[in-house]
Amino acid sequence: MIKENVQRLLKELPEGVQLVAAAKARTAQEIEEAIAAGIKIIGENYVQEAERVFRAVGRKVKRHFIGHLQKNKVNKAVKIFDMIETLDSAPLADALDKACARENKIMPVLVEVNSGREKQKFGVLPEQIQPLIEELSRKQHIKVVGLMTMGPQFGDPEQARPYFKETKKIFERIKGLSLPNVEMQYLSMGMSNSYQVAVAEGANLVRIGSKIFGARESAD
Ligand SMILES: *Cc1c(COP(=O)(O)O)cnc(C)c1O
Repeated sequence: MIKENVQRLLKELPEGVQLVAAAKARTAQEIEEAIAAGIKIIGENYVQEAERVFRAVGRKVKRHFIGHLQKNKVNKAVKIFDMIETLDSAPLADALDKACARENKIMPVLVEVNSGREKQKFGVLPEQIQPLIEELSRKQHIKVVGLMTMGPQFGDPEQARPYFKETKKIFERIKGLSLPNVEMQYLSMGMSNSYQVAVAEGANLVRIGSKIFGARESAD
């Protein structure tokens, strides 16, 4: 099942769109199956769970952090991930920058946009993206390489389209500023039920879980 799912998605996605296997709550064996079928990037939401899984899977694929990063997990995250997709505050950026300096590493980050302005969601409000990225552009050990958004979840993915459109607009605007140390390369939008709409609106990273691994037991 996993193999067919991955192969179908890889065939369907247009060139230039990269597939992140959102692997929360999946076993190392399931992840290995996805990798064998062609997955090149694993997304994990929880640092501890990721540590466990990555010990088994190793470094043969890239590792993206896609959950909410707590400051007390930053040191570990910096050691085990290749990209943080969910940078959402200046204090978190400070903590990441310091931890990366200690590791002598530059971490690529995406800034998470709360495109639906949802109170219960993490991410930065659209109008606060530019000031935050201007601040981040001065950091030595993190490098902004794009934006990520979840967007509100709907049964009908068409309803997510305006939020993807708005995020793309912000992406292009920031890109046009040519800020130092900022390279707007990646736009991470779309999940199992919304990736087609997201890709149509300009996503070039899609994060897909259940369409690869099957339905999860717990919804989160
Ligand atoms: C779980 C998760 C996904 C994938 O969700 P599916 O609906 O299973 O495809 C994508 N992005 C984030 C941030 C997630 O937590």
